[in-house]
Amino acid sequence: MGVYNRAPLAFERGEGARLFTQDGEAYLDCMAGIAVNALGHAHPRLVQALKDQAEKLWHVSNIFKIPGQEALAKRLCAETFADVVFFTNSGTEAVECAIKTARKYHWARGNPERVDIIGFEGSFHGRTVAAVNASGNASYLEGFGPPLPGFVHLPYGDHDALRAAIGPTTAAIIIEPVQGEGGARSLPVACMKGLRQLCDEQGILLIYDEIQCGLGRTGRLFAHDWAEGEGNPDIMCVAKALGGGFPVGACLATIAAGSAMSVGSHGSTYGGNPLAMAVGEAALDELAKPELLAHVREVAGYFNQRIAGLKDRYPDVVADLRGKGLLIGVKLVTPNREFMQHARDEHLLIAGGGDNCVRLLPPLNLTLDEAREAIARFEAACERARAKAQAAA
Ligand SMILES: *Cc1c(COP(=O)(O)O)cnc(C)c1O
Repeated sequence: MGVYNRAPLAFERGEGARLFTQDGEAYLDCMAGIAVNALGHAHPRLVQALKDQAEKLWHVSNIFKIPGQEALAKRLCAETFADVVFFTNSGTEAVECAIKTARKYHWARGNPERVDIIGFEGSFHGRTVAAVNASGNASYLEGFGPPLPGFVHLPYGDHDALRAAIGPTTAAIIIEPVQGEGGARSLPVACMKGLRQLCDEQGILLIYDEIQCGLGRTGRLFAHDWAEGEGNPDIMCVAKALGGGFPVGACLATIAAGSAMSVGSHGSTYGGNPLAMAVGEAALDELAKPELLAHVREVAGYFNQRIAGLKDRYPDVVADLRGKGLLIGVKLVTPNREFMQHARDEHLLIAGGGDNCVRLLPPLNLTLDEAREAIARFEAACERARAKAQAAA
């Protein structure tokens, strides 16, 4: 189906932060498959984990115990607020599980009327029917029938509107601690703490969608870790970087929030299959390393400083710098789609984003030398954008 606006480029192989076309042309990858290849391409440890598992066992079904699932779940719980995990194949399925978990929680406590999921404008939670209803982008719903009941959308950052919207039918709030597709807006730490307090006061659940911003991207293992334990969610969705390119996602919950999800409540044929678990465990092990997280903070500091400089020198191209860590949003004056092409002309791959942003989402192990190269290529793209705007004027 023609659902993708594809760039006229095809890659044959990758190595670290480099992608190579069939004729051997190299590109510097600062989008990492939209924050998926967080350890770069063909990471030796991930390749080995997949090969080893591929020779043993691919799939058995969740009617059996799957030791790899238990191991990865244990590891995820040890690193987070969570006590229980459900494994999926994608981000949107993790969001589906989160929504079902939140509603079932209230139902089991004798409050079946608590079904409303409060989300925010500009948010993105995936493409399944429930996830597009939770997302704050009406265009993703267009043509797919009436919007589902049980979803509420509020302006981003309007605290009064949020307080006013919570009522006897509210089940949960869903939010990305740092927005991905919607324009890389970063939730201040004070707001994470405020959301936690608000949810406790009102007896509702807090769902963080860390599918893009989690797993080291912001320089902490999870973006909400910046709140030092005072902004923890009840439920969290992860995916993308968890498999480093192998499809896997997870919905994590506290024992209380997950308690109503009993036998038969939910399921998946492929979710948590041995291949995904083997790669996921290797990826998590690498991503949780303190030296990797420190490296992310260092490289992010470099990018921030240099892009702030570009904003000063190219005010006709660069409007604003957003995001957190290596989820870098650059709001542009010139059209973002054109800018992505200018970057490709410089053999630099970057992602688009809402609100006329482009995003830099490099592998987290990008070296400082590669970051310097990325900035030089980004600056050359700014020159191209300037020249094009001036020619049109
Ligand atoms: C990518 C993404 C999703 C959807 O994940 P899929 O694997 O494409 O289903 C949901 N939420 C956020 C924040 C994302 O970035």
